[in-house]
Amino acid sequence: MNIVADTHTHTIASSHAYGTIIEMATYAAKHGLSCIAMTDHAPAMDDAAHVWHFFNLHLIPNYIEGVRVLTGAETNIIDYEGHIDLPEDLLKKMDWVVASFHPEAIKPGTVEQHTEAILGMLKNPYIDVFGHPGPNNFKFDYDYVVPKFKDSGKYIEFNASSFTFRAGAKENMRYVAKLCAKHGVEVVVNSDSHSPFNVGDVQIALDLLREVDFPPELIINTDLERFKRALSNRHIPVVY
Ligand SMILES: [Zn+2]
Ligand SMILES: [Zn+2]
Repeated sequence: MNIVADTHTHTIASSHAYGTIIEMATYAAKHGLSCIAMTDHAPAMDDAAHVWHFFNLHLIPNYIEGVRVLTGAETNIIDYEGHIDLPEDLLKKMDWVVASFHPEAIKPGTVEQHTEAILGMLKNPYIDVFGHPGPNNFKFDYDYVVPKFKDSGKYIEFNASSFTFRAGAKENMRYVAKLCAKHGVEVVVNSDSHSPFNVGDVQIALDLLREVDFPPELIINTDLERFKRALSNRHIPVVY
């Protein structure tokens, strides 16, 4: 099993990432991917792309080197009501939107506060993915929140790079995986790559899902038809 689309990647528009979109797509093609999403950091992060970056995403062609390029952002959850740091007029033009907790953009709070933030975020129709949910500093009420993702039009991310450096991410996501399987919640497996060299590198996340006997049909991006269906079921459908 491997992914066909990597829906969380960064380009040089985020200053601690090292590839242009052409380089990212070129390596994605080399690594056998059909699609990548370009999800640079939204303005609440220090290394974020300027807001003008997001205004101009329509200049990116749908296909580069034969790879479907979805334009979007990794937005920041900036308060415990679940608001994010890009306005609706920009979000509605995007193909794919990730929303994540980053300590640089929101002070880690209590389990209850994180839980409230996620429930608030779930009400935002423009968000597709809850990015890297696992770290210890942003724990939430897993048992209560995970089932709420079912039929929400949003996916829980298994973020491979997070497993390597965010404390608790891997262990907590093992528990989240079991809950997703139990409640039929769909997930997406992404690299969060910050350089062309590790686009599509998600083995550590796929291994974890295999270890818990995760149902493959709940992973939206390991099958192209399933992934296309997810895009067409979006709040604003995306044509592949
Ligand atoms: Zn992130
Ligand atoms: Zn990221």
